Amino acid sequence: MQWLLAEGLFRSGLYVHVKGLQRKRAMLMFHSILPERNLELHLRNNSIAELTRTVHILKRMGSIVSVKQWMEASEPNQFAITFDDGLLNNLNYAAPALAKLHVPASYYINTSYVAGNAFVWPEKLSLMTRDHKGTLHARGQYYIGHAHNRWHNRDTGSTMVSDWMSLSMEDIEHALNEIEIQCGGMELLEAHRVMKGEEIKILSAMPGVTIGSHGVDHRDMTTLSEADLRDTLLTSKTYLEQCAGQKVDELAFPFGATNAFVCDIARKQGYTHLIGVNAEKASPQIAMRYGIYNHLPISIQLKSMLSE
Ligand SMILES: [Zn+2]
Repeated sequence: MQWLLAEGLFRSGLYVHVKGLQRKRAMLMFHSILPERNLELHLRNNSIAELTRTVHILKRMGSIVSVKQWMEASEPNQFAITFDDGLLNNLNYAAPALAKLHVPASYYINTSYVAGNAFVWPEKLSLMTRDHKGTLHARGQYYIGHAHNRWHNRDTGSTMVSDWMSLSMEDIEHALNEIEIQCGGMELLEAHRVMKGEEIKILSAMPGVTIGSHGVDHRDMTTLSEADLRDTLLTSKTYLEQCAGQKVDELAFPFGATNAFVCDIARKQGYTHLIGVNAEKASPQIAMRYGIYNHLPISIQLKSMLSE
């Protein structure tokens, strides 16, 4: 019988039973790992302690294996850990913490540095807007601030990120400039930028690390022209392989957005392991991940993941 150690009961040594746990398998998706919790910036950051706690809980339930092992073996009670976006804090905090725990992980890196952008645009937007009060306007739309620094379109209710995810990089940069003017004096924190080539190289040499692609500019791949899609997949793969000195054949789709055409082109370009998020349950060829965020205790998120 398998048991899940609930976070609230961790210290008291009591256990909580989770129904049907015996056959569970899951792949987890993290983004940003920081020394301390930061609930204001966005949902996508967790502390080193939360990452460590996740590992301890998963190890009690089974084993943590690489993404390739997870996708190829189908063993019960296996888990895999991944990180999206390729932020510098993955190298500084996540990888050292996992190395100590002897846990493998895949890092899906946005190679926007090669295109001259130190920050992946959703992260930059969060950093710019984190202390702003009131409304924001961009591209002729008005946005109202909500919890976790989310900005919702006053008229449609959609978020600013979802309104922008199919725009060209030129349009996104123009919109970011509009936001920057309204949020003046903002500071872009170093730990939130994407890794440079030499940093990717250091990360790739750490034990248990697999480098994968997350595209070049964090746009929704289903909205790109075929030429742009081929270009982003190839540019990112070539750059990462040069930096890491290892074959790069895992691809995590930005926003988890994909379709049969994107998968077909990705496979033809040598991506053998395609990684999505919760939304693409329909496709058997894409590994599904469960996103870990900071709005709930880790044990509650894992319990909900395992009961799905
Ligand atoms: Zn991403």
